[in-house]
Amino acid sequence: MFIDSHCHIYYDTFHDDILDVINRAQDAGVKKMICIGVDLKSSDSCIELAQKFENVYATVGFHPHESKLAEPNFLNILSSMAENSKVVAIGEIGLDFHYTHSDADIQRKVFIQQLELAESIGLPTVVHSRKADNETLEDISNVKKTKGVIHCFASDLAQAERIIKLGYYISFTGLITFVDELSDVIANIPLNKILIETDSPYLSPVPFRGKRNEPKNVVEIAKKIALIKAIDLEVVKQQTTKNTLNLFHKII
Ligand SMILES: [Zn+2]
Repeated sequence: MFIDSHCHIYYDTFHDDILDVINRAQDAGVKKMICIGVDLKSSDSCIELAQKFENVYATVGFHPHESKLAEPNFLNILSSMAENSKVVAIGEIGLDFHYTHSDADIQRKVFIQQLELAESIGLPTVVHSRKADNETLEDISNVKKTKGVIHCFASDLAQAERIIKLGYYISFTGLITFVDELSDVIANIPLNKILIETDSPYLSPVPFRGKRNEPKNVVEIAKKIALIKAIDLEVVKQQTTKNTLNLFHKII
């Protein structure tokens, strides 16, 4: 089976056909998917979906864009949400100095607090990092026992190597089907460090550009990795699924 390690299928755009979306994923061999929260409300929606559908798992956390909205007791709330058996990680957390919807200082504070929370409750993290390569890795390396993944990787090989050195995984989206520079990164890092994701509804891979993205399309990401590394799709499927299950140990 494939696993879509990162999607946002609680958005309104999926409201009318969520069952079809999940069934299409199943038919394509995408047997599990992780629904990623970006604030308390969406984290709740992820848990709701995970309760409803056996093959959906959830994460809870504050995205850097939303970090300025984190309520004073948000860590306690996230911590109790994380007790749910279907909540497999703290995320989407991180730093985004491209948009800076939230102040850089606030982003960093909320990121570090959530890294520490993940460490204290023994859950992995799902990290977003944009225009913040150094700061993201600095904060992660200060919270030594965290495990996690840098999602939607869009940087260079040197950064990928630093991430691997920290023990983190690297996750690729549909970007790799149309951003040629990422092929070099994929060719030069080991398959046992790679996760695949759609980031639905965003970042539709070729040949679905311009359409709403959905979990079944994670197969296209795997195909592209197989092509770049000149290996069988089957090998990519098995290894990325193994990696995902290794990292998100609560998935059964
Ligand atoms: Zn995301």
